[in-house]
Amino acid sequence: MSKGLPKRSEDYSLWYNELVKRADLAENSPVRGCMVIKPYGFSIWEKMQAQLDKMFKETGHQNAYFPLFIPKSYLSKEASHVEGFAKECAVVTHYRLKNSEDGKEVVIDPDAKLEEELIIRPTSETVIWSTYKNWIQSYRDLPLLVNQWANVVRWEMRTRLFLRTAEFLWQEGHTAHATKQEAVDEAVQMMEVYAAFAEQYMAVPVVRGIKSENERFAGAEDTYCIEALMQDGKALQAGTSHFLGQNFAKAFDVKFATKEGGLEYVWGTSWGVSTRLMGALIMAHSDDNGLVLPPKLAPNQVVIVPIYRGDEELAKISEKAKEIMTKLRSKGITVHFDNRDTHKPGWKFAEYELKGVPLRIAMGPRDLENNTIELARRDTLSKETVNLSEVNLEDYIFDKLEEIQNSIYTKALSFRKEMTTEVNSWEEFKEILESKGGFISAHWDGTGETEDKIKELTKATIRCIPIDREDEDGQCVFSGKPSKGRVLFAKAY
Ligand code: AMP
Repeated sequence: MSKGLPKRSEDYSLWYNELVKRADLAENSPVRGCMVIKPYGFSIWEKMQAQLDKMFKETGHQNAYFPLFIPKSYLSKEASHVEGFAKECAVVTHYRLKNSEDGKEVVIDPDAKLEEELIIRPTSETVIWSTYKNWIQSYRDLPLLVNQWANVVRWEMRTRLFLRTAEFLWQEGHTAHATKQEAVDEAVQMMEVYAAFAEQYMAVPVVRGIKSENERFAGAEDTYCIEALMQDGKALQAGTSHFLGQNFAKAFDVKFATKEGGLEYVWGTSWGVSTRLMGALIMAHSDDNGLVLPPKLAPNQVVIVPIYRGDEELAKISEKAKEIMTKLRSKGITVHFDNRDTHKPGWKFAEYELKGVPLRIAMGPRDLENNTIELARRDTLSKETVNLSEVNLEDYIFDKLEEIQNSIYTKALSFRKEMTTEVNSWEEFKEILESKGGFISAHWDGTGETEDKIKELTKATIRCIPIDREDEDGQCVFSGKPSKGRVLFAKAY
């Protein structure tokens, strides 16, 4: 067995990196900032995708696919968009390699220079809106509700597995509407879909909010977001939904004939969540023993480990295990029977703890005699003996999984409550940020300058203006100027 994980309280960052690697979620690739997502990590991502995809379809969206390459000229059509993304774009300039003169290496063939350079998509608004121009003529073509699952590239400088990578997997929704109100409603709806997914499936409570101008998406009029709090008191932007106004319609000349016979620019939205959600899931719940997965996203919800000496005992336990598996599967519970004889039960226990399997069933010869199992919960590390003659096992396990899902959420919610502090002075702001961290709810004068200054002095940024904030007259914690309500500050990933 390898040594245990580093402790969260000693080095949170090292704990995270080690956990991602040891739980077989992902590892670094030869290209800095890119990652290999391993099968176990990918199976969690697939569960996330499947649920999100279902929710997108239930809200009327269809999937499509657009190209990876974007002509360079497209990106510059929307001024603030190109300004926002220019610094992190990978550009393709050539399409062929050749052997060097001494034959020792392969070099770019200078004769194979592209006439127009291509950008590897950092996001697809430009290529999609250039296509929408051909798809949209009249009000009958609207709304257009499209999503794509894809990879994108942003040449990030400070990278960390899942949380911020140079290439990441995501989905990006791109919708077009006849009216401003409809587009705003769509952007808000998708923020709500993300929030519901985070809370009900990931068991991560989120704050729904609007970004300040400084943090807004390049090319958007408003960015709605969900913000989560990690166990080290840092915030994580977990999803964004943008109201694009008519910016991209104007940049790509997308107009539609209205019902009344006029010609108007189309209103747009875009929204995305990425493999960063994997980082959020890991950081929000896991402990010093490893991952803690919410049952709804765990690739295996239950694992059965046999404890035996010799083939005869294993055969008897296997028979019982198969019976149990059939019962559990009839209730839609995913279960794995680990009968490998290459590892001892103790090793397996540690392995499934590291991998966050919500429930572990252990069964030995004495359990067979007594018609019992030992049931261990990953989130609380508690164990109980269940008498199979006394319960309906599939119902018992089903309820237990639900209890775990709820209890993980409740724990994260009380942590967030504990870690959200209202402050009313600059001294208090700095003190709380240093000693405690978390969300700081404070008055702000609404200017970008104040926000920049606070960021420069403390590294804290405005995570969002909460959607449900109450109007409250006050004074900006930094400038003392008047403010109409509180915003949430935090240091963020
Ligand atoms: P954006 O298009 O900038 O609004 O980002 C859409 C989603 O992708 C947001 O949920 C971001 O948190 C996430 N995201 C942005 N940059 C990265 C990155 N480098 N790695 C992983 N996720 C990212």
